[in-house]
Amino acid sequence: MTALWDQHIQQAISLRRELHKQPELTWQEVATAERIRQELTALNIPWEACAKHGTLGRLAQHKPGPHIALRGDMDALPIDEKSGMPWSSQSPGCMHACGHDGHTATLMAAAYWLKAHEEQLPGPVTLLFQPAEEGGHGALRMIEEGALKGIDVIYGWHNWPAIAFGQAVCPDGAVMAGNGTFRLTVTGQGGHSSQPEACQDPVLAASAIVVALQQIVSRRLPPQDATVLSVTSVDARSSPTVIPDTAVIEGGFRIAQPATRKVLSSLIEEISTATARAYGTQCQVEIFPRYDATINHPEPAANFRQQLESEFGEQVLSQSTPLPIMASEDFSYYLKEIPGAFALIGSDDGQLQHGRPCHNAQYDFNDALISRVTRVFSRLAGAPVPEQT
Ligand SMILES: [Zn+2]
Ligand SMILES: [Zn+2]
Repeated sequence: MTALWDQHIQQAISLRRELHKQPELTWQEVATAERIRQELTALNIPWEACAKHGTLGRLAQHKPGPHIALRGDMDALPIDEKSGMPWSSQSPGCMHACGHDGHTATLMAAAYWLKAHEEQLPGPVTLLFQPAEEGGHGALRMIEEGALKGIDVIYGWHNWPAIAFGQAVCPDGAVMAGNGTFRLTVTGQGGHSSQPEACQDPVLAASAIVVALQQIVSRRLPPQDATVLSVTSVDARSSPTVIPDTAVIEGGFRIAQPATRKVLSSLIEEISTATARAYGTQCQVEIFPRYDATINHPEPAANFRQQLESEFGEQVLSQSTPLPIMASEDFSYYLKEIPGAFALIGSDDGQLQHGRPCHNAQYDFNDALISRVTRVFSRLAGAPVPEQT
């Protein structure tokens, strides 16, 4: 049993590094999808394409027990890799900086192992290889194309460098925040820098808006209601003697409670337009909702925690990680449809690249997680697992 396990894990680690070398951006996961489908075909696992580059792998579909789904995401990010790893990206400007290569490889390791133990599975298992997590709403498209049909419960995970290896979080309720972005276009009237009285200065108005927006979290929302609002870009390019016509402000927000979205959106609108008016300019407000908070269902979350404890020991649940994590996940779509749970599993083992945050150019997925999480997934699916070696 152990020899077979080791062989599967080695194969999955090689696959992870192979995928890492050939990252593909959101909705462009062509070669990744092909590689996954090739592997499933070789394993004799029936599969269907879903959501363009997504794939559903089917195991033990005739079994009477509850039908569980396990999900792994596949896409990479527009980042130039600086990890220095031998398996670094061979595509300039594209990098697996969120570890979705590792999530895919772990799901494939589960495919190897569950296929070898298919007869022992109590119920059907569907493997969701999902494209376009990084802002592409891939989960939504998977659902629209029937990925959750017949499924009773779904589990997913994310490696998390801010948590120590061997620790994890999988709370009841919100595990990751909801998010959204905004664009504020401040329009005034440009002109000569020596004649401000003949202009309506959008630069000054935009500056005031940036400052005023910071009152939302500190003064207008309850402190218990964890919210982040960041202005990340101010674009009013001009030259030293020219007051421009427009200034464009962009930024993003994170919310822990779904109900905050409406309040926050109307505050952004109210403060931006009123401040712009006070400076003799106008402001056009655009708000783009992205993902809702990822909210675990209590029963699957308890089950996930139990399997994490079986794998990592009783100390696995991190007490020092503030929740929800303010990053966001499109796994939230699945949890709005059916019961399920999402865990963040620590990857920081002291090596530099495993402690760098996700989306950092020096980050690398911690391959030691593949074996550990495959074991957790196998337990969730009801398959036997070998003792730790
Ligand atoms: Zn990411
Ligand atoms: Zn990610």
